[in-house]
Amino acid sequence: LSYQQLKDIDREKIIHPQSVPKQNADEGPSMIYSKGDGIRVTDMDGGTYIDGVSMLWNVNLGHGQSELATAAYEQMNEFAYGSQFYGNSNEPAIRLADKITEYAPGDLDGVFFTSGGSESNDTAFKLSRFYWQLQGFESKKIIISLKRGYHGVTVSAQRATGIEAFREFSGSGDPHIINAKAHLTAAEQGDRTSSDFEKSIRGLIEQEGADNVAAVILEPVQGAGGVHLPPDGYLQAVRNLCDEQNVLMIADEVICGFGRTGKNFAVEHWNVTPDMISFAKGVTSGYFPLGGVIMRAKVKEAIAQYDQMLAHGFTYSGHPTGCAVALKNLEIIEREGIVDHVTEMEKELQKGLHTLQEKHKCMTKSRAIGLLAGFDLMKDPEADQLFENDVKAAETFVKACRERNLILRKFDFEDGMNTVAIAPPLIITKKEIQELIDILDDALTAVHKKWEN
Ligand code: PLP
Repeated sequence: LSYQQLKDIDREKIIHPQSVPKQNADEGPSMIYSKGDGIRVTDMDGGTYIDGVSMLWNVNLGHGQSELATAAYEQMNEFAYGSQFYGNSNEPAIRLADKITEYAPGDLDGVFFTSGGSESNDTAFKLSRFYWQLQGFESKKIIISLKRGYHGVTVSAQRATGIEAFREFSGSGDPHIINAKAHLTAAEQGDRTSSDFEKSIRGLIEQEGADNVAAVILEPVQGAGGVHLPPDGYLQAVRNLCDEQNVLMIADEVICGFGRTGKNFAVEHWNVTPDMISFAKGVTSGYFPLGGVIMRAKVKEAIAQYDQMLAHGFTYSGHPTGCAVALKNLEIIEREGIVDHVTEMEKELQKGLHTLQEKHKCMTKSRAIGLLAGFDLMKDPEADQLFENDVKAAETFVKACRERNLILRKFDFEDGMNTVAIAPPLIITKKEIQELIDILDDALTAVHKKWEN
């Protein structure tokens, strides 16, 4: 089929996830990827682009990693698929569980496998409610999530997502999930006088009664909500709050897990041990759909004593091929010292972003942890003022980068948010970071001229 024929079929037959359907129906796909190599991907029409966001923050080892392909091939030839239902198992899943719990902080010690991030979060919600039920606390069902948190699109995960567009699409969803309306507020750190108190996690626990609350879920660093780092002391404060109120803490490390922030898990930056960690994406660098929930010993042991069927689990839980790919992925991360490399590259990225921010006054609030970074585009950063002639400045900017062969992502779901995210494959080199920064520089100059007119 020709490039044009493929475009036409796509336009006519496919409803794309998280896209504008009408735009797709009118224009067809914006790219048809055909090849990947390192930090670059090639479109079928021949253009080659730097993948500045590791596709969906997941292709951590970069594109065209043939060792991962070989691991999948060998496992598929040996034993492609077997289920974990009815107590069955397979060697890659067993070895992966052992490896992941070795990486996990504190006494996180048990794993439940899923096929992706949303399933992992739904699993974490179910298991935390079940944990309390097993302890005799039938009423502890509420899950509290954060404003601007993104947790996926299965019914419960979407309900927990604190971005308006997603909440609106989640219907009545899971009625026991409530969303804090304040963002990373001092109220969590015990400031009861904070104007945000009632909208904070702490305020919500008080309002609902701790006897009704099962868990709090949050990303250690928010991704799709606009790349927000927690203020110092924030995660520890949430940990303390959960301990004090007898509520479980779930860290959604779907983006951060396995090296993205320069640690195996981002919670390690703040020495926090959550009760559960949900993971996906980086565990296989996106080469196979796999995720899971890691849980503390107390949770695992309580569930392990249940003597009837646990009515939860996915056909692809513990998929042998996925687990073999994950094992190879983690082996490469260790062998190549990727996590330390990320810390080194963060310095380069920070330096580059800092220089750009000095030079371009529309660029503001640049932030990075490991290779997870973002900045905002504003006419007047001091006054949080947008460009009147372009309220979608981030979108315009991302298009300008695309024209310069760099793929980035924009976030403008909520009023006044015009964030650009950068999360390149973790294998990026110093020279490639400079190349990326140079493109940003050129694109900023070009769009700024347009906005000033
Ligand atoms: N949690 C976080 C933090 C995510 O960023 C994502 C996806 O981007 C998810 C959960 C959902 O994962 P999936 O799309 O694999 O269901």
